[in-house]
Amino acid sequence: MDLGIRGKRALVCASSKGLGLGCARALAEAGVDLVMNARGAEALEAAAHKVREAFGVDVTAVAADITDADGRAAVLAAAGPVDILVTNAGGPPPGMWTDWDRDDFLAALEANMLTPIALMKALVPGMMDRGWGRVVNITSQSVKAPIAVLGLSNSARAGLTGYVAGTARQVAGKGVAINNLLPGSHDTARRTAIDEMISKNQGISVAEATAQVQAEIPAGRYGTVEEFGAACAFLCSQCAGFIIGQNVLLDGGNVNATI
Ligand code: NAP
Repeated sequence: MDLGIRGKRALVCASSKGLGLGCARALAEAGVDLVMNARGAEALEAAAHKVREAFGVDVTAVAADITDADGRAAVLAAAGPVDILVTNAGGPPPGMWTDWDRDDFLAALEANMLTPIALMKALVPGMMDRGWGRVVNITSQSVKAPIAVLGLSNSARAGLTGYVAGTARQVAGKGVAINNLLPGSHDTARRTAIDEMISKNQGISVAEATAQVQAEIPAGRYGTVEEFGAACAFLCSQCAGFIIGQNVLLDGGNVNATI
């Protein structure tokens, strides 16, 4: 399927590994030039090199913390005007509701709500002026069904979801489509870290912890970063211009809901 975005330019945040890298690779496969970002320069340069080699697109790599104002400014300066924005960052730590104080909430809001909002504020006006743009925010299935130990994530991502619901409808008339992609359990380093935590807490092996979680997913497995990236590239395609302000869940059927 021709996604119709060959020659467009995208900023994909937090994209040296995991879901962000899956999105970067799928966009590159569709012929999109990239600005890739992560904090660790070595892994980022290696990922960018592989994308250039595999797909022959132009890739600029900017090592910076996207949740920090100076880091974000460096990424935006290197990116210049882009047609496609994929927002992403690490998720907040798990814990109990009694663990978190004001500063923990401020950090989570900064990373998973205010950072994507700042990136949209910086880049969407240019997309509107040019009459075409796509934004995909990587959030979480916890937006649809809370994950109790991820209270910081539940809170910050719910805030971003509310912002997108209104803002997407304000910019759609200028050819800009903003949507959110909600990962369930995907096979990434973050997922492995969670399975290692379950293994430690329950005194079982990591393989047993993984099998236990996967048994709860109707699809019987974790999602792949390739599947996630393909869904992202579709939402960034010419085909997706009538999909506005939606929350697209990729969870193998894990959230038990009719709608
Ligand atoms: P991952 O495999 O750990 O990859 C995270 C990527 O983001 C790495 O490239 C990392 O590189 C980069 N990164 C992290 N913090 C950053 C920052 N402040 N600035 C710039 N880059 C940053 O994680 P993932 O599984 O892909 O998860 C991505 C997002 O989806 C997270 O917010 C996570 O909570 C959410 N999510 C994931 C799942 C899942 O099953 N995987 C499910 C629900 C939600 P550096 O460390 O070098 O910066």
